[in-house]
Amino acid sequence: MPGTTSIDQSQRHSQSIDESTSSVEYMSRQAVIQIGVDALNEAGSDLICSICIKNGGSCCSGCSFLVDRVGCTNRNTSCTAWLCGFLKYLFYASGHLQEWEGFWRQVPGQGFREDRTPELFNVKKPLRIPNIRRLSEALANDLQELAAQRIAIGFIITLRDKIDKNIDQLNHCKNDPRKRSRIERNIKVLSSPFHHFQQELREYLLSNSSTCAT
Ligand code: SF4
Ligand code: SF4
Repeated sequence: MPGTTSIDQSQRHSQSIDESTSSVEYMSRQAVIQIGVDALNEAGSDLICSICIKNGGSCCSGCSFLVDRVGCTNRNTSCTAWLCGFLKYLFYASGHLQEWEGFWRQVPGQGFREDRTPELFNVKKPLRIPNIRRLSEALANDLQELAAQRIAIGFIITLRDKIDKNIDQLNHCKNDPRKRSRIERNIKVLSSPFHHFQQELREYLLSNSSTCAT
């Protein structure tokens, strides 16, 4: 989580377990935190966080583990796994949200701003998130522009929370196609001001589908 400095934000987030780790059955708490932090860094979360923080949206705000000029003093699995509406949308739209959630479901003991994750535990599924930094860059540009337009105080933060809520709701209606399509429409409407992102996403999805086809 966040609320700290942009450096801290980026450290909180992201790499993917590489091929060699896919057979690993036991992993340390510290290793999964690092995997998450590296993955988010590669995904470009720092770019989005810096706009969000500038606009008062830091998710570390008020946390007792946040120390001025130091950052987070309690790196934990919970805050590493947690995604806000912007990051959730980034993974959702690019098709990597299930991968992220599936990986973190294996990690026990997650709580709020701290964890009770054991030092060693079983991990069967690796985390594979490709480099989507260009998408993050585009989303950060959109957020910057929207914030500059001053449509309303805290507009982008409200947008973040609405997107978050809608994506979460999708998980609760897996067997209800009508409700799902209604929520998907909501997400489309909410994300419609992300023009740079949508353009970059089209190119990303196109290049991915042509890679798969070859
Ligand atoms: S423990 Fe607090 S300061 Fe650290 S990442 Fe979580 S919310 Fe932020
Ligand atoms: S709410 Fe999201 S974008 Fe904002 S600082 Fe936290 S993780 Fe970054």
